Amino acid sequence: MTDTADVVVVGGGVHGTSIAWNLARRGAGQVVLLEKTGIAAGATQYSSANVRLHYQMETLARMALFGQNMFKNFNEEVGGDCGWNQVGYVVFLPERDVKPARKVIAMQQKIGIDSRMITNDEILDIEPSINLDGIVAGCFEPTSGHADGALTARSFADAAEREGVDLLIGSEVLGVSKQGDGIEVNTDRGIISAGNVVLATGFRTSALLEQVGVEMPINPVRHTIAIVERAPGMDNDHPILSDRVSMGYYRQSGPGLTLIGVHDPLEGYTDAEVEVERPPKQDIEVDLASRFAERFPDQTNARLRQGYTGVYDCTPDFQPAFGAVPGTPGLFVDAGYSGHGFKLSPASGHLMADLILDGETSFVDMTPFRVGRFAENDLISAGEGYESRTLA
Ligand SMILES: Cc1cc2nc3c(=O)[nH]c(=O)nc-3n(C[C@H](O)[C@H](O)[C@H](O)COP(=O)(O)OP(=O)(O)OC[C@H]3O[C@@H](n4cnc5c(N)ncnc54)[C@H](O)[C@@H]3O)c2cc1C
Repeated sequence: MTDTADVVVVGGGVHGTSIAWNLARRGAGQVVLLEKTGIAAGATQYSSANVRLHYQMETLARMALFGQNMFKNFNEEVGGDCGWNQVGYVVFLPERDVKPARKVIAMQQKIGIDSRMITNDEILDIEPSINLDGIVAGCFEPTSGHADGALTARSFADAAEREGVDLLIGSEVLGVSKQGDGIEVNTDRGIISAGNVVLATGFRTSALLEQVGVEMPINPVRHTIAIVERAPGMDNDHPILSDRVSMGYYRQSGPGLTLIGVHDPLEGYTDAEVEVERPPKQDIEVDLASRFAERFPDQTNARLRQGYTGVYDCTPDFQPAFGAVPGTPGLFVDAGYSGHGFKLSPASGHLMADLILDGETSFVDMTPFRVGRFAENDLISAGEGYESRTLA
């Protein structure tokens, strides 16, 4: 194993692989990616990979738009496949959410996003089989869709390797510490001295940061995805349907199947062995399928298939931590995406390369997401809009 590197990226999820690719193609020197298990072994492999642009914070909407543009042209820009499927995105709004939704649409249109408010009649035109109970209006993004989390991370990793990144799979980072002008990375296969190190290690980031005296609380919350084999009555390429009445989302997945998940990052559970793969609990799957059937009565006879669970890395304000680690020059973090990080990964890779190579980010200001905000007790607030966590 190499014992020096210009940059070490820790974590082979969609964020770590995007960062490594961006750094290498922009001339960061010798880039090494360390991953303890395998590419896309963490949250990335379970991601619904929805790529919507409906964010309250303009910075996040701009990052998601950057990502969406890359997913649409993935083969030309990165090489390989990301599984892009532009099915559109519809939000079903209860009365309480109409005002914040209008604010989101106004901001989106200002920055050039194709989105609009729609009436219940227009919702019926898009999905005629819907039961409109509790819904008073909607939002529509025709350019949105979903990709495939694992495929995307593998394509980023392959592209990074083509740019000369050393992918060291099966290498666990046990600790990081200051060493002269750089960072020493202690792995289970030896020590690497690096100029810069990026931790893209999901919920494991807190423990690594503790070693350099930095507090960054991350709560690992296990989420369930139910899968139903649809009954007749719904289009195979139905849009991603975000139901803010039941707080569930429904996204098609290949012929005849729909994935069902929830919006609230805290609507999951924690368990002691968070890294162990766990099958879903049946009562949770049944609850998810019944939300879908209530919204689409034709689907009362949809068949429940075996679903799966995956873990969200939730910060206290449900927003990512991005940037330099206070007091440890050369150490950077990109983690804590709290269940909405897939779509932001193309942008985070680009922005992390900006920060390391140019000393500042280019198309958005990432200061609000700084790692130090937790210790400063300066959390990100959604203001008067939706409760921020319910947009994850
Ligand atoms: C069920 C589910 C549904 C989701 N749906 C969506 C969605 O629709 N849209 C969306 O935008 N986002 C969604 N997300 C969130 C999104 O998938 C994540 O934010 C994103 O995948 C996080 O990527 P990551 O690279 O930061 O983390 P991960 O994919 O968790 O990768 C971290 C990697 O670091 C490795 N690692 C950790 N510690 C070490 C160590 N010490 N040494 C070496 N390697 C280490 C792990 O093995 C892992 O491979 C969803 C997440 C889940 C779980």
